[in-house]
Amino acid sequence: MWFFSDEQKMLAETVRQFARDELAPQIETLDHEEKFNDPAFRKMGDLGLLGISVKEEDGGAGLGAVEATIAMEEMGAVDASSTLSYLAHAILCVNQIGANGSAEQKSKYLPDLISGKKIGGMGMSEPGAGSDMLGMTTKAVKQSDGSYLLTGTKTWITNGPTGDTFYVYAKTGDSKKDVSTFIVERGMAGFSTGKKFSKMGMRASPTGELVFDQVKIPEENRVGNEGGSVKRMMVNLDLERVTIAGISLGIARGAIEVATQYAKDRKQFGKAIGSFQMIQERLAEASANYEAGRHLTYNVAKMFDDGLLNGKEASVLSAKAKLQAAQMATKVALDAIQILGGYGYTREFPVERMMRDAKLIEIGAGTNEVMRMIIARQMLGEIAAL
Ligand SMILES: Cc1cc2nc3c(=O)[nH]c(=O)nc-3n(C[C@H](O)[C@H](O)[C@H](O)COP(=O)(O)OP(=O)(O)OC[C@H]3O[C@@H](n4cnc5c(N)ncnc54)[C@H](O)[C@@H]3O)c2cc1C
Repeated sequence: MWFFSDEQKMLAETVRQFARDELAPQIETLDHEEKFNDPAFRKMGDLGLLGISVKEEDGGAGLGAVEATIAMEEMGAVDASSTLSYLAHAILCVNQIGANGSAEQKSKYLPDLISGKKIGGMGMSEPGAGSDMLGMTTKAVKQSDGSYLLTGTKTWITNGPTGDTFYVYAKTGDSKKDVSTFIVERGMAGFSTGKKFSKMGMRASPTGELVFDQVKIPEENRVGNEGGSVKRMMVNLDLERVTIAGISLGIARGAIEVATQYAKDRKQFGKAIGSFQMIQERLAEASANYEAGRHLTYNVAKMFDDGLLNGKEASVLSAKAKLQAAQMATKVALDAIQILGGYGYTREFPVERMMRDAKLIEIGAGTNEVMRMIIARQMLGEIAAL
């Protein structure tokens, strides 16, 4: 991007090299076997990626949404699964403890999460509350000693099966907005990590349930004031949407690279298939649409970092970036499959995996429909309100 500083360009190069060395060689096997790239995750800690947005005085890299999106794009270009797990850890858990945690919470949890010794995740979605996340029913009931008893089930949680530290939202009152946040650790009595899902894509990113059966949570594990989490949750969703759009950009870029090379190499009717205008059309459209997504996403990330957006603007623009990038990546990956013909449909080439991974981003972090609702509500006001 035109505004990337030398440091940002250097970060992109470093992460690109890391992705080539540590993610690319493993991903086909891990995707097939639905296994997590644990060694690579720990190495992200050595690179300073795991606490990318946490302030330097709290042990993080002190970087912003632009750098986080760069990391997502560079890793996403070769292995979107590990990148999704990285996002759940760095943006949904670590960033939130850094931004909202007390000094004690930060010093207790951040060092191990930032070094990669521990894996983090975030629990918001529930079996009965996905798009309508404020319909969550997981409850934390305050006890006379100040602690809470946490009961309920979270589902679809990235890093659920492998994680150690979870940033969990629960109701502490009867109204939709009585949402509080708790740091829940593996090993707490009554906490188990339920079922692991077998998925179409993002297969090297473990997804599962978090089950809370009267888990006693000490008061010092509540993040922020009781009932005060809705705004912080929404702010984090905005950051999640712009950074996850980076994964879509990476997938699209990866698919375009494979399809372009194939169009040069593959010959039919005595010519490279890239000489056929219908192949050129797909490649040109993919490249133009990737470029549009890249400009929108990084501009929104930069506007976040430069403090140019109020809360509503941040929500609408991050929804636009995610909607455009997610749809674009699925279309580009599908077109790449078409360009590769029969090979595109097999595991001989990575484009079928890229298409399966791309589809998730039209669902996770808010579906395409929810993104459209956010955008239309801003355009139409009350007429489009739920
Ligand atoms: C691989 C994966 C990883 C995930 N990781 C996490 C995680 O780490 N933490 C976490 O908390 N959650 C996570 N999620 C959950 C994810 O955010 C939800 O799946 C998503 O928000 C959609 O919720 P739902 O699946 O319950 O679908 P539903 O809300 O049941 O939606 C079903 C369909 O109805 C549509 N729909 C719903 N409401 C409306 C409406 N008002 N108007 C029009 N259409 C509507 C939806 O767009 C969708 O097409 C993950 C999901 C997946 C698949």
